Amino acid sequence: MDCNPRSHLYILPLLLSFVIPAFPIIYPPNEVNLLDSKASQGELGWISYPSHGWEEISGVDEHYTPIRTFQVCNVMEYSQNNWLRTNWIPRQSAQKFYVELKFTLRDCNSIPLVLGTCKETFNLLYLETDDDQGSHFREHQFSKIDTIAADESFTQMDLGDRILKLNTEVREVGPLSKKGFYLAFQDVGACVALVSVRVYFKKCPYTLRNLASFPDTVPMDSQSLVEVKGSCVNHSKEEEPPRMYCSTEGEWLVPIGKCLCNAGYEERSNTCQMCRAGFYKSTLGNMECSKCPPHSFSYHEGSLHCGCEKNYFRAEGDPASMACTPPSPVTVIKKEKTSRNSVSLSWQQPERPNGIILDYEIKYYEKEEQETSYTILRARGCNVTLNGLKPNTAYLLQIRARTAAGYGASSPSFQFETSPDSAFSISSESSQVVLIAISSAVAIILLTVLLYILIGRFCCHSKTKHPDEKRLHFGNGHLRLPGIRTYVDPHTYEDPSQAVHEFAKELDASCIAIDKVVGAGEFGEVCSGRLKLPSKKEICVAIKTLKGGYTDKQRRDFLAEASIMGQFDHPNIIRLEGVVTRSKPVMIVTEYMENGSLDSFLRKHDAQFTGIQLVGMLRGIASGMKYLSDMGYVHRDLAARNILVNSNLVCKVSDFGLSRVLEDDPEAAYTTRGGKIPIRWTAPEAIAYRKFTSASDAWSYGIVLWEVMSYGERPYWEMSNQDVIKAVDEGYRLPPPMDCPATLYQLMLDCWQKERNNRPKFEQIVSILDKLIRNPGSLKITANTTSRPANLLLDRSSSEVPSMGTMDDWMDGMRTLPCKEAFSGVSYSSCDTLAKTSTEDLKKVGVTNVGPQKKIVSSLKALDSHTKNGPVPV
Ligand code: AMP
Repeated sequence: MDCNPRSHLYILPLLLSFVIPAFPIIYPPNEVNLLDSKASQGELGWISYPSHGWEEISGVDEHYTPIRTFQVCNVMEYSQNNWLRTNWIPRQSAQKFYVELKFTLRDCNSIPLVLGTCKETFNLLYLETDDDQGSHFREHQFSKIDTIAADESFTQMDLGDRILKLNTEVREVGPLSKKGFYLAFQDVGACVALVSVRVYFKKCPYTLRNLASFPDTVPMDSQSLVEVKGSCVNHSKEEEPPRMYCSTEGEWLVPIGKCLCNAGYEERSNTCQMCRAGFYKSTLGNMECSKCPPHSFSYHEGSLHCGCEKNYFRAEGDPASMACTPPSPVTVIKKEKTSRNSVSLSWQQPERPNGIILDYEIKYYEKEEQETSYTILRARGCNVTLNGLKPNTAYLLQIRARTAAGYGASSPSFQFETSPDSAFSISSESSQVVLIAISSAVAIILLTVLLYILIGRFCCHSKTKHPDEKRLHFGNGHLRLPGIRTYVDPHTYEDPSQAVHEFAKELDASCIAIDKVVGAGEFGEVCSGRLKLPSKKEICVAIKTLKGGYTDKQRRDFLAEASIMGQFDHPNIIRLEGVVTRSKPVMIVTEYMENGSLDSFLRKHDAQFTGIQLVGMLRGIASGMKYLSDMGYVHRDLAARNILVNSNLVCKVSDFGLSRVLEDDPEAAYTTRGGKIPIRWTAPEAIAYRKFTSASDAWSYGIVLWEVMSYGERPYWEMSNQDVIKAVDEGYRLPPPMDCPATLYQLMLDCWQKERNNRPKFEQIVSILDKLIRNPGSLKITANTTSRPANLLLDRSSSEVPSMGTMDDWMDGMRTLPCKEAFSGVSYSSCDTLAKTSTEDLKKVGVTNVGPQKKIVSSLKALDSHTKNGPVPV
């Protein structure tokens, strides 16, 4: 048996010395090595004192990489004091260092006859100096860093099994201030092999964040963070100065500020890259480059805007996102004055002339002559008087504008008649003539209506018309603001697939991964999944599918939603990512809204949000609706179930379409006039005679406001649709939800004005909610506990709201509510007693569900307020 413990240690490298090719060691990017004994192939040249102590030996490490090791194993002799000192290590710019030691250590119990002499630790020390002191070495100058013990020691048996128990210990040194330092290892009688020694400091490595580059940064001392200013990457500009903090652990923290890509550039992999040909970006910002709008192109990379195709134009001042269109014709011609032989006409300048208008060409001819002979006149301004006409004759006329680029399109034919011969018209004042005049007027009106219908039909079926001309006819009647895009009804396209491809991006199905089903739509399932477009980050998406066996009409209606959604770009409108129409299943891909629809989300989180959070959600919905109404789009089915909520509680308006939306909505019911309408959410005039406008959307917004403040309660509870229509028509309104701020209840009442022009516009709603957000104290006054709040918008006529004078009246008002029976068990003598009814009282009489309890308590409070403060709209 071999009893020399030192020889056991020496077996170690021999056991492992079969040569295996070395492979590079990769250290974390935030560690900078000052010393790495593993990297040295030759002798390290460290000083060992006394000479029979530490020995430098070649070996292999745990990965069988050749290395230089130091070993000592004087375990049988007392009073060991063996020193090993590294070479001088220059400090560079760092102040704090890490020493990583890898070593093996023999278990003293496994060595016979060493009791009292064998140790299982060694000491780590350092000495700071300004220069390399060569071989000059004095023990007492060194300061101790730590005593190092092994987590794992090994025995002879381990060696027999070839199990190598390598220990790794890391110690901090610093802060240091001199130019360099030495490390020393003091052995006091252990059997130890130092397999590797690495000395490093940490830095925050060069990085790109928020389009700014941050240089390699070395932390200053052990306490504070270093603030570092970033530099904007090429082709970007500072929005807010980019900054980050470098921690002592070499980590970048708290990025602040950012840079934005210049016009013509978009962000790709943290750099600003030129827009590709066919795309453009006209402004500074981190949005993506946009595809050139219809009838425009960009041949070069980095385009700020796209040029119009030949014979297409964009008016001066039009935004770069505007499609190029053919010059628009003169459309509105007005007859100013007619006589026997002349007529004075005026017209409006075309909306989009293809340059400055030089003059107008006016061509006219007798209707009966069918253009076989005609007259042409020129006018510089927008009016003309045509003389020398025949009395009592019908003429047709067309006008076209001329610019430097040539003539624009001709106006549609305009018909006018000259007056009859005065002899006839003046001399005859008899009733017969009056009759003739009236009949002619009626005939003209009928003819005009007929013409109007015919023109209307022609417009709807015209293939060649530009989409901008095909505006929805049920627009909100508001003045369209110049510069704001107008919604184009996809149903006016003869070929609906043209509309979908104009407004929605075609996606390759291979870019979409479907994860799970999250909902059911009328046309198929709604799934969550992921979309990965080339050179874009993967994003979470919702995928609506069109189930197999669909008809052409179903496919058209399904895709109409995408054609509508694709025209919108607003943070509170659900964003369309694209469509899949060229493979099956047909899909509509939108951004994913983690919290699903607003009504179920609120029911799930009953009473869990602060007033400000609820107002924040409502503000988002109002802002989305303002955008839609500015675009001339009337939603018709605004309800909490059609609002989606994302993980940041941002609410977005969804469910777009025309008749199809109402067909799909389980809340929509057939009215006597035909067509389905979600009665509880719809304004009276829209129910009565289908007058859908942004003002009827404002009514629905009031109902959404009520749904939100009551955490997803069903409007008018279990009242039948017929009862709702009747009650609303008679002037009854929903009571304030429990704890509803007075200002918000007043806003609901304003939205539910019978006269639609008195309802607030969405712009006003947004501004009211903004004021509330700025002044949250105003939310503390609740509608149930105070007198009616000051009117925010308009002075409503109280005659509009019937007074509910007596308790019986009120109970009658409640008669259609589901819990009426419960009241038969409650004895009440006055409004006061009833108003004090609590949910506990209701439980006693058998009303156990929270929803009805809340409703009744809230209604009772409203009644109380009514009796104290005058008529209350219920
Ligand atoms: P819809 O056909 O649009 O009414 O969608 C049916 C259901 O699918 C909704 O009630 C939501 O629960 C879910 N859903 C639709 N779109 C999304 C979306 N973008 N993100 C998350 N869930 C959605």
